[in-house]
Amino acid sequence: MNFGNWDENVHNDYEQIKRIAFMQRIKPENVTVFPEKQAAEIVGRDGVYDVTLNSCTCHDFEARQLPCKHIYKLASELGYLEDLPKPSRKAAKAFKESLPAEIDRFKELYFSGAISIEKFNKIVNALLSK
Ligand SMILES: [Zn+2]
Repeated sequence: MNFGNWDENVHNDYEQIKRIAFMQRIKPENVTVFPEKQAAEIVGRDGVYDVTLNSCTCHDFEARQLPCKHIYKLASELGYLEDLPKPSRKAAKAFKESLPAEIDRFKELYFSGAISIEKFNKIVNALLSK
């Protein structure tokens, strides 16, 4: 994933991966792309945001100065997100087989007092979710 002036590694941070996921929920009817300008107008909670591959007028971008979901939406519309990971049956199967060991690992963290019972349950629920 390489677009705008961003270092490619920026997109591997967990906070960025969350925004890539949120980007997928932006409704198409709220997005107007201007391909020749590599820009978009995206309707959001506080009005219409002016989006380029390097900036956005939303609060998230203003506060973090890192790609927000609107920038990712524009990048996606312009074809820059083609190399997002694709589901792999083989990798998914290996993960599923590793679940009992993963759960044991968090069980040990719970029993040692490193994590709360609530956190343990949330992690196990997430691991066992579809
Ligand atoms: Zn934004």
